[in-house]
Amino acid sequence: MRKQIAAANWKMNLTLKEGLKLINEILEAKIFMEPTQEAVFAVPFPYLIDTKNAIADTPNFYVAAQNCASEKQGAYTGETSAQMINSINIPYVIIGHSERREYYQETNEILAKKINLALANNLTPIFCCGESLKIRQSDKQNEYVQKQLGESLFHLSEEQISKTIIAYEPIWAIGTGLTASSEQAQEMHAHIRKILADKYGSVVAENISILYGGSVKAINAVDIFSQPDVDGGLVGGASLVANEFITIIKSLKKIQ
Ligand code: PEP
Repeated sequence: MRKQIAAANWKMNLTLKEGLKLINEILEAKIFMEPTQEAVFAVPFPYLIDTKNAIADTPNFYVAAQNCASEKQGAYTGETSAQMINSINIPYVIIGHSERREYYQETNEILAKKINLALANNLTPIFCCGESLKIRQSDKQNEYVQKQLGESLFHLSEEQISKTIIAYEPIWAIGTGLTASSEQAQEMHAHIRKILADKYGSVVAENISILYGGSVKAINAVDIFSQPDVDGGLVGGASLVANEFITIIKSLKKIQ
């Protein structure tokens, strides 16, 4: 049974005080979660431990790092390794967000190294993929996403890919207010699941959670999450507003 996940990506927003206030407002809503549902908070590095402590008594709530280094350890000033993240008991890490691909030149090859280090250090990677507007307009999105998955993930074993979460985030829909229609999201998610099935078999593919990201909000979450191959969302802007994110968590599919 694959997990349904509402993942908040705070990016480089909020002070610690503001972040903990947001978390507490979400906790106060006492959201009922099914065993297959999770809420994940990808917070800035300095807030990881405090956020983990704040949610410690809340089942199905987890914390994620937003990135990890592509090297194991050593003289890489300013970097944070997968091992360090694991050493403070953080279970998830986002890898390959389009902002990191664009502003920090993270290539598919670099991301493959990060994925390997995350998995070697017992972190669950949330691997982001997705095309730009130019690629979508020339109808090349399927090949583009297939290449991203192939070059960063397809060296993994069946066991390793089964521990990985994929987030499809069309770049043209991130932070722009433009959302892929639920049909566009379903179409790409089904395509990703088929690529996974062709490589690893349908049993493995059926059990991998594929999240949608790109201007998910309280108002459109049910529509998007109800698509058969969409297993929740990776949410930027709307995750910074308590009521928005509470509704988004409540919009996750209930799988019996
Ligand atoms: C994101 O940062 O991954 C994202 C999808 O942002 P937004 O929800 O603001 O589009």
